[in-house]
Amino acid sequence: MEEKIVYFDNAATTKIHDVVINEMINIYKNEYGNPSSVYDFGNRVKTIIEKSRKSLANNLGVQAKEIYFTSGATEADSWAILGTARKLKKKGKHIITSTIEHHAVLHSVEQLEKEGFDVTYVPVRADGILDFEEFKKAIRDDTILISIMAVNNEIGTIQPIKEIVEYVKDKDILVHTDAVQLIGKIKVDIKDLGVDMLSLSGHKIHGPKGVGALYIRKGIKIENLIFGGGQEKKKRPGTENVAGIVALAKALEITLDNVVEKEIKILELREYLIDNVLKKIPYVRLNGSRQNRIPGNANFSFSFIEGESMLLALDMYGICASSGSACTSGSLDPSHVLLGIGLPHEIAHGSLRVSISEYNSKDEIDFLLDVLPGIIEKLRNMSPLYEDFLKNKGV
Ligand SMILES: *Cc1c(COP(=O)(O)O)cnc(C)c1O
Repeated sequence: MEEKIVYFDNAATTKIHDVVINEMINIYKNEYGNPSSVYDFGNRVKTIIEKSRKSLANNLGVQAKEIYFTSGATEADSWAILGTARKLKKKGKHIITSTIEHHAVLHSVEQLEKEGFDVTYVPVRADGILDFEEFKKAIRDDTILISIMAVNNEIGTIQPIKEIVEYVKDKDILVHTDAVQLIGKIKVDIKDLGVDMLSLSGHKIHGPKGVGALYIRKGIKIENLIFGGGQEKKKRPGTENVAGIVALAKALEITLDNVVEKEIKILELREYLIDNVLKKIPYVRLNGSRQNRIPGNANFSFSFIEGESMLLALDMYGICASSGSACTSGSLDPSHVLLGIGLPHEIAHGSLRVSISEYNSKDEIDFLLDVLPGIIEKLRNMSPLYEDFLKNKGV
């Protein structure tokens, strides 16, 4: 089928900037030497890596030696959490996280529970923002680590990371944030944010998949997650993903170029989408705070609808989006994030996440707005729940 793709799944992964692809091709073609070798052909690759580390660090307001390249944010999250806990286990065995974290964080702390650590999962309010009172109550004398995401990947809500850091500044507790969905949306100054560790990923900022980084503040020591040679100061061994590293730094640089203008455009598209969905379609709600969310995220729940059917119907028009119901991952449970904001199962099942990037246009939003009401109506007309609802309403 010859059809244009309308890509609204930018929270899942993004289109790579053309310039980034060209840089990668150059590395693969011309700079294939081993960075750990003695001869110049390899040594100059080491220089390329260090230049990228410096560029990435500069764009994040930190020192180059505080950046460690990884295979992505899943590894960065796992490393920060497991590495910190295992290093500090004699000091304390309590970790605080939230109920709406990415699985890279949730499954890492679950692993720690198996290793004898105690984890508190702080709830979020109905608007998807951390319940700060509950957060304060969660802190204990034996708390060693707090890991709270900067921006949620499903509902786009922005968490109060600076306030968390400020609140625990006199306590001996490390703060890690999964900032995958924040980096590239605004210019983040990590020193200003104040966290001890921060994870980011290449493919969420128009870079390639399979590369990311963990910022570890100077002076902080955590255990290795993997073992091997001397790369990344022996802390993250393995021959470097040179093209990926170069691409990650370049992707951040390009994404941050004119970032304010880009995000204003993205915000306008999102507001236009939200206004019109709420106007054109009955029995719908917006999930997560409308104000306190990143510009590119809209997440709706349509009553009497199965998220998967909606996605398949949109796919017929070449529209890529995602849903909070996790049937695709082999489970019928709705997303823990949507349940975390208090949605009942049946409402959470009918959710649709539209995530917008700088590559989207108003025409594409209009196309979505043209087809979505019809899809919803058709699916509702096939729904026994909707039939019951109309009967009870006396229609
Ligand atoms: C995508 C994502 C991850 C995982 O990143 P990978 O680089 O794909 O491993 C972690 N956290 C959040 C919030 C994400 O959106």
